[in-house]
Amino acid sequence: MKKNNNENLSERARALASSAKDLGEGLLGKLLEGNPMGKAVEPGAMERLLGAGANGPGLEDCARCGSCKARCPAYEMTGNEAFSPRGRLMLLKGLAGGGPPPTDGLLGRIFSCALCGRCDASCPVGIKPTEFIYRGRDALRKFDSKRLLTRTVLRASLNRPATGVSAARFLTGLKHGLLKRLVSRLPRGISFPRRQLKNGHQVITPRKAVGRVAVFAGCSANYLMPETGEDLIGMLVAAGYEVVMPGGEVCCGMPLRGLGLEDEARRFAMKNLEIFGKLNVEAVISPCSTCVYMIKKRYPELVGGSVENAMDATEFLLSPGRLDLGPAIKKKEKADLRLIWHEPCHLKYGLGFNAEPFLGLLNIEKPKEEGCCGFGAFLTDKDTSRELLSKRLSAYEGADMVVTACPGCRIQLESGGIKTAHILEVIEEAFPGTDSGTELAG
Ligand code: SF4
Ligand code: SF4
Repeated sequence: MKKNNNENLSERARALASSAKDLGEGLLGKLLEGNPMGKAVEPGAMERLLGAGANGPGLEDCARCGSCKARCPAYEMTGNEAFSPRGRLMLLKGLAGGGPPPTDGLLGRIFSCALCGRCDASCPVGIKPTEFIYRGRDALRKFDSKRLLTRTVLRASLNRPATGVSAARFLTGLKHGLLKRLVSRLPRGISFPRRQLKNGHQVITPRKAVGRVAVFAGCSANYLMPETGEDLIGMLVAAGYEVVMPGGEVCCGMPLRGLGLEDEARRFAMKNLEIFGKLNVEAVISPCSTCVYMIKKRYPELVGGSVENAMDATEFLLSPGRLDLGPAIKKKEKADLRLIWHEPCHLKYGLGFNAEPFLGLLNIEKPKEEGCCGFGAFLTDKDTSRELLSKRLSAYEGADMVVTACPGCRIQLESGGIKTAHILEVIEEAFPGTDSGTELAG
């Protein structure tokens, strides 16, 4: 009798668990994703995956030479072919060829890529593995319940970033509870200042203009590190540039693509293109290498056009003729902090700008070994992200401060307990006269 009762109970528990799972998948799928869990890859997403090579070499053109593996931080970490760019391409090829339904293992391999883009810069055939990985994530999205909450929160926050930041600021003030735990999953380097850089259309004009530029702030500089954006604007004005900050800028879309939200990323890209693509300016400058990389180099595959004159702030300011390099050398003698350089992957491999020739002038040391900080995997694979970060922290041991050109890298490095600075702050300190003292209203 007792045994029968136990059997009944376990049957009921199984049925309950199964209906809860169905309910969870159905409801969460419908409510949060707008797309119930299914068994087949959506035709639209599959077309996008296959179309990744439409304007260049496709999956079938991979010569399997393995050059892309040489610089892949995820492959270096695991030594596993399936975590290499070549291995990921082979897995996606299987998916595109109508292979078996994706397993957790496949999802893990596609979502653990740090999207650093080092593989794109190494392929002799011209294949961009990351383009297939972005589109593969889109195709795999509805099988991927593990990152469903992250997608939902990110989508909601980026649609209303000011509200998202206010909510996060409020939640970080809470001491207990689920919401507090949710916020505590953000990297420790993230803080939520009370002001934001841009709030509508603004034009700042120097006394004597030598040119006209626009600023694409990016979400990090706009909402999390407004002081970096202020430094940039002050330096541009001091260098004689009229600075336009058109209203209406939205996220560049990179984090959305990273989570497989291609449609949303495309919508954001179209909006930015509409605003920044038609401005009459010499350059659109951003203090975030990843934003520049996205709006200049990755928009063509996404929306067929780009902000062609986008430029990284570091490259713009350090280009010949923009700053007087003389005073920096004097300042160098007074430097008392040990600064070590962290090269953002998107600056060096995505945009092809090498800051190393300027490091000596700014009294910044080259690290004993360069590498990816793992920020690109933060939203999709915490273990990969943490492991890559810990390698960076060992390489930068002994630094008083790590200097970089990407707010995302700063957030990641600070979450490992190391102090960081944007290179713009160092340039501003090193070159007296680059700070215009400009204060933004609002
Ligand atoms: S470098 Fe290019 S051709 Fe060679 S394995 Fe990687 S993706 Fe294929
Ligand atoms: S983007 Fe970076 S982590 Fe991802 S496959 Fe390419 S090299 Fe590896």
